[in-house]
Amino acid sequence: MNENVETVRCLIIGSGPAGYTAAIYAARADLKPVIYQGMQPGGQLTITTEVDNFPGYPKGITGPEMMEEFKQQAERFGTEIRFGVVTEVDFSNRPFKVKADDGRTILAETVIIATGASAKWLGLESERKFMGMGVSGCATCDGFFYRGQEVAIVGGGDTAAEEATYLAKLCKKVYMIHRRGELRASKAMQHKVLNTANIEMVWDSAPEEVLGDQGGVTGVRVRNVKTGESRDIRVMGVFVAIGHKPNTELFQGQLELDEMSYIKTKPGTTQTSSDGVFAAGDVQDHHYRQAVTAAGTGCMAAIEAERFLTS
Ligand code: NDP
Repeated sequence: MNENVETVRCLIIGSGPAGYTAAIYAARADLKPVIYQGMQPGGQLTITTEVDNFPGYPKGITGPEMMEEFKQQAERFGTEIRFGVVTEVDFSNRPFKVKADDGRTILAETVIIATGASAKWLGLESERKFMGMGVSGCATCDGFFYRGQEVAIVGGGDTAAEEATYLAKLCKKVYMIHRRGELRASKAMQHKVLNTANIEMVWDSAPEEVLGDQGGVTGVRVRNVKTGESRDIRVMGVFVAIGHKPNTELFQGQLELDEMSYIKTKPGTTQTSSDGVFAAGDVQDHHYRQAVTAAGTGCMAAIEAERFLTS
């Protein structure tokens, strides 16, 4: 057999809470799991600050630290963790054929997909133009660069609310631009945002254009969706926090996806439309999207993979 082809009992794609939890369970069940970490090792939690709602951390923990602990726990039981990206899958026959960007071809007896979701963008030409020059999708990563300045954040969900309060601690002023007249964020987060003195709500407004010059962003033009009027807000940074889309491009045509492109699983399980392929975490959940629920479904996927192999 070609030396670049190997057989794996349980292949895990993705390294957020779902992927690492699946790895912990699969390794302890002696499935000798191999995990491909993907483009963003540790997943979305590596770009957040404090995590205060994951049980077991009474004092809170930072996202990157928590994911490092998940990783170490997976390694402790013998998971092989690979820095790399899966580029091709063929779920039509078992073992499943999977290719990765390290040149390997893997014949996997079971696959657990935990590729998560990625941040959405507004889709403006000017947003793309100033990406990394004042436009950011991560306040925790980039907020530091805007200390003492005025910035804007777009969105009205928990992510936008959380990032707005984070930015408000660093920046002189934060404009929170939301397309409706009320926030989608949880009541607790709404309360926090609306009671932070240096956050100014820009209601019923959609960004039309990110303004800037060679030096980067200088402002944002917003249109009031009710009155149709536009106005320019002077800011040095524009943070976009308008939700996520599942990372399922690789699985189009291979697995059943729902109308929003999330992987469909049989209710109450992590089984996908292909026997032996399981999906856990945000890639199959647009409802809860929490680290703890992702970890829970990662555990389910590993148990289901083990039962599949022994049945
Ligand atoms: P959400 O989908 O909840 O919110 C997205 C926000 O962006 C909405 O307010 C939406 O407006 C707005 N939006 C979407 N598309 C556009 C667009 N094209 N232009 C302008 N605005 C747009 O995403 P989040 O990332 O905020 O949250 C995802 C999930 O994660 C939620 O379930 C949330 O509760 C959870 N979460 C929990 C946290 C915690 O518990 N600590 C922290 C962060 C997230 P509209 O309201 O009009 O639809």
